[in-house]
Amino acid sequence: MKLSTFLLFILICVSSINSYAKNIELTIVSSDGQQVIEGAVVYDKKARKAYRTDIEGKVSIDSGIKLIQIKAKYHTPLQLNIADITKNKVVMTHDQSLLIADQKLKHSKGHKLWGNYSEYRANNDLISYDLSIKVDPEKKYISGNNKIRFKMLKADDKIQLDLYQNLKIDKILYHNKALTYERDLNTVYINFPQNLTKGEIQEIDFHYSGYPKATGRFGCFTFKKDSEGTDLINTACQGSGSMVWWPNKDQQVDEVENMIMRVSVPSELKDISNGRLIETNVLHSGYTEYVWQTLNPINNYSVSLNIGNYVHFGEKLGNLTLDYYVLEQDLDKAKKQFKQVKPMMLTYQKYFGEYPFIDDGYKLIQAPYTGMEHQSAVTYGNGFKNGYNSGKGSPDWTGVGISLKFDFIIIHETGHEWFGNSLTSYDFSDSWIHEGWCTYAESVYVEDQFGYEDAIKYLNGYKSKVENKYPMIGQPSVAHWPTSDIYFKGTLFINTLRHIVNDDEKWWVGVKTFTTEFKKSHLYTVDVLNFFNRYFDYDFEKIFDQYLYFNELPTLIISKSGDTVKYRWQSNVEEFDMPIDVNANGRKIRIYPSNDWQMIENGNDFSVADKSFYINTVFM
Ligand SMILES: [Zn+2]
Repeated sequence: MKLSTFLLFILICVSSINSYAKNIELTIVSSDGQQVIEGAVVYDKKARKAYRTDIEGKVSIDSGIKLIQIKAKYHTPLQLNIADITKNKVVMTHDQSLLIADQKLKHSKGHKLWGNYSEYRANNDLISYDLSIKVDPEKKYISGNNKIRFKMLKADDKIQLDLYQNLKIDKILYHNKALTYERDLNTVYINFPQNLTKGEIQEIDFHYSGYPKATGRFGCFTFKKDSEGTDLINTACQGSGSMVWWPNKDQQVDEVENMIMRVSVPSELKDISNGRLIETNVLHSGYTEYVWQTLNPINNYSVSLNIGNYVHFGEKLGNLTLDYYVLEQDLDKAKKQFKQVKPMMLTYQKYFGEYPFIDDGYKLIQAPYTGMEHQSAVTYGNGFKNGYNSGKGSPDWTGVGISLKFDFIIIHETGHEWFGNSLTSYDFSDSWIHEGWCTYAESVYVEDQFGYEDAIKYLNGYKSKVENKYPMIGQPSVAHWPTSDIYFKGTLFINTLRHIVNDDEKWWVGVKTFTTEFKKSHLYTVDVLNFFNRYFDYDFEKIFDQYLYFNELPTLIISKSGDTVKYRWQSNVEEFDMPIDVNANGRKIRIYPSNDWQMIENGNDFSVADKSFYINTVFM
């Protein structure tokens, strides 16, 4: 054995000992029928580190941990010594009294099939899509094929994809031979003639056709006419599923590394999709094919086509291309309104780091619905006016006079390039990471453009929209979009975190470090918590718990007698200990309430800094 080989041998031995000693595997189950619990949080108080159980209720924690806390929705929290756990299994007591409305929702079979990262999804990793689609506006008909490349993560002879049940599967080819498949609602199980080898890259060619259904909040796939009577065909499928119009593995967990879209449309129309236009081919049939390429990982709901009488104008910001596609008749209005893009980009890059998809460019594309964060191809339908023009309610979106200073859709949907497209939650249940942070991005824009006072006023305007009816974290693996509080309460929660940190310089560097560290990657809420704990050197566990896992806000109970003010927290989380700022006797002070009474003696004119801390106050 040569010395170098010997050293390598030692290294392998040491690393295998390390990996052997590294983790403790636990399975968390419910007393309710011994069901495994997905999304339970195991917390190591000493290291301030959170772990989350996977779909099989399993979690792998660092060795050396002696004491853990385990929390799961609708279960009594536990504190346990690792030494007392037998057979690596923990049973949590299901507590009916903790049941609230969102748990009682009946999730349909279709949503369960869609939301579940089952064994036939998890056995492979997506590499790329090459989607060809021909769109016939007259017949409202589509036909095409998607060449799906994937790597097997284990040997298996079946994979699971999605395509809406109303669309026809024409054939699924593998090495030019047709594969068999079974359909169950919108799910397609594809069978291979033999086991596919682990680690091998495979390609199937999925042919389909049919009449796509208009469905969901934005219509998902719509055939419309513009104001001049010309065809206008657009997609926006978040919440409905991109499977409404093309076959894919319709999950946030797994993104392709890159994608090609070949969209054929009648030659008098144009298609604008994600990434960059790399080819335009005039076909024989009176159709033209637009070939778009995305060089970055992309989530399925971001994949979009926009077909109409589009005209283009553009500009550059350093090496970032900013391209605008609008209907010819709206060009002048767009040229005025889209002037907001550049300063917004400067703000976002200043606070959240470089635009994440420079090689795919940034586009703003007119669409017949309010807007959607399609990656590198943000769609816009806000009427070229400031505020939020959804047709419902006042354009003064947060109702405090700030919203009319900017175009809500440009600012909000572009914020998603960082929060949603670059940082993507693994599951719908953690969607507050997309929407709470993106809504916070609005206030970051306001602060950078118009100052701190306006920003605080703007985001406090969101209080009127908060329901506090359901927890922000939903049930995992059922493709269920949680409460709208993920937007409004989400941003007020983040604003509260900022003021707990109480050091703006540190806060902004922290926010930028957060978006940089998780750039183009997936995360769970526990990853956000772990980052915040580590970066700000503070234990945010109970604060995250109260705001995200419970519907109620923490309530500060206040009792005054003369100048003496007594106060304590009332909270769902035990031993809740969030600090807050109050004004007392003419000055701002920080207090550290707990669930037990505390008091200050000079509490003249006591008030809570409730624009900085989103809490309930009750005066007794
Ligand atoms: Zn959004």
